[in-house]
Amino acid sequence: MKKVVFPGSFDPITLGHTDIIDRALPLFDQIILAIGTNSDKKYMFSLEQRLHFLEEIYKAEPKVRVMTYTGLTVDFCKEQNAGFILRGLRNAIDLEYEKTIGQTNFKMSGVDTIFFVTSSGKSHISSTVVRDVIRHGGKYEFMVPDVVRK
Ligand code: ADP
Repeated sequence: MKKVVFPGSFDPITLGHTDIIDRALPLFDQIILAIGTNSDKKYMFSLEQRLHFLEEIYKAEPKVRVMTYTGLTVDFCKEQNAGFILRGLRNAIDLEYEKTIGQTNFKMSGVDTIFFVTSSGKSHISSTVVRDVIRHGGKYEFMVPDVVRK
């Protein structure tokens, strides 16, 4: 069974994330949406809310599992028997950043990273921008799935 882990904070999940997940689905038997928990980090949405968003969006998709983890992503991949990590690339900054992490992860563990370049029109979307817009009372609805809009 070909498994991939899509790690992230998903604070909140955006249409950028769902674009990457939906396009990776045909390649894998299982996609684990893995919410990394870091006690030093402040989140806008609680872990329960973030779990709920992911579960709700993919409730009809049997290939998707939603989990949380702490520690190294590659250790979590090994525990889950997943040979791949999924990441999205919005721009050259993402590429440079993800390249070093992907290379390190592969050297450490043999777990390789699969990258999807954002679909046209979605590269401006990020959880950080969504949170900033929400904080200032702006229109954020066009950047997130329905369940986050409510
Ligand atoms: P992190 O906390 O690790 O930055 P995020 O939840 O922000 O995690 O993002 C997880 C993954 O989703 C990353 O690979 C990121 O590049 C990707 N991603 C986020 N937004 C987009 C987007 N608009 N298009 C493509 N990939 C995206």
